[in-house]
Amino acid sequence: STNYPYYPARALVDLAAIRSNVRALAAHAAPVAGRSAQVMAVVKADAYGHGLVPSARAAVRGGATWLGTAQIAEALALRAAGLTGRILTWLYAPGAPLGDVLDADIDVSVAAPWALTEVVAAARERGRTARVHIKVDTGLGRNGLLPAALPAFLAGAVAAQSAGLVEVVGIWSHFAFADDPTHPTVLAQADTFDAAVRLAERAGAHLEVRHLANSAATLTNPRMHYDLVRPGLAVYGLSPVPDLAGPQAYGLRPAMTLEASLATVKTVPAGSGVSYAHAYTTTQDTTLGVVPLGYADGIPRHASGSLPDHPGGPVRVGTGGAARTLAVAGRVCMDQLVLDLGPDAAEQAGDRVVLFGDGLDGGPTVQDWADAAGTISYEITTRLGDRVPRVYL
Ligand code: PLP
Repeated sequence: STNYPYYPARALVDLAAIRSNVRALAAHAAPVAGRSAQVMAVVKADAYGHGLVPSARAAVRGGATWLGTAQIAEALALRAAGLTGRILTWLYAPGAPLGDVLDADIDVSVAAPWALTEVVAAARERGRTARVHIKVDTGLGRNGLLPAALPAFLAGAVAAQSAGLVEVVGIWSHFAFADDPTHPTVLAQADTFDAAVRLAERAGAHLEVRHLANSAATLTNPRMHYDLVRPGLAVYGLSPVPDLAGPQAYGLRPAMTLEASLATVKTVPAGSGVSYAHAYTTTQDTTLGVVPLGYADGIPRHASGSLPDHPGGPVRVGTGGAARTLAVAGRVCMDQLVLDLGPDAAEQAGDRVVLFGDGLDGGPTVQDWADAAGTISYEITTRLGDRVPRVYL
């Protein structure tokens, strides 16, 4: 980040919303048939763009007993910031600083034989016992050991456990159809997961946590909760199943509001070309407003607008009875985008506009931007530019 205090746009992050979302997720994970799952708040990718440390602290206050990160650097940053609870980190390549991970008392995923070899070497070198979670590829087709590779891998892991170098505390996996809890692969993956758990226990692992559920499974499928649920998107108040229900249906509140101050407001005649390549042309004498956010800030260029065939991403303008939602007019540029405010616009330079918020006032949401850009909500918040200040409420 440039870390300079002035910027003409800002992302407001409501930490109370993150706290209450985690509380709602914990309630979903609460005793089902006598079992209660813990919550791991997934805070990778700068907490899905919301800011790693403040978001992680809020999640812990809301009841998350674990934090999850992809990158080792993210996990180490949490420890450096003074977060003392359990942390799991899961994505690294050969040569990763696993000794630092163990010194920081961070749990580590092992997803391949080379990873176990390197974890064992780091444990021996640092005189520590590594807490490992074995990642099983139950059908996602991404990271993790295929079930056929498990028996040999488990033999090695349990031997290292007997030598005091590792403790196999977890078995975990991830769904392929994250946003479709009714997809038949979900049950098939759970069956494969159950078999992997049985195999690990028979091999002598003392499993503390079995974990499989992302946000969608946490909210919709108690069968998948096991000992720990691993929601990311829902922590930030976004619906993981937007085709089925919005966040409110699950007691979630979107935490981020992206707002900007209009940089320029000016009147132009009908027939004026707007922004690069004149992808939009005014149809009447009108007023244009320039919003100082562009694709360098993470506003997708795919959400450019060329009427009438492709309306751009939505922006809320005005307040009270004058509030209305307009579509981006023309191309989204690197640093700015343009709105056609209409012939009777009362807006002035400096007025606040909102690209997305909690949607409770009928204003646009992260999901609306995802739809306008042909992507998923995850991509909208995680790509929000580093130079946009996060302001914590
Ligand atoms: N677990 C793993 C391994 C992930 O990669 C992710 C995110 O992609 C999550 C959990 C959280 O998923 P979601 O944001 O859908 O809840």
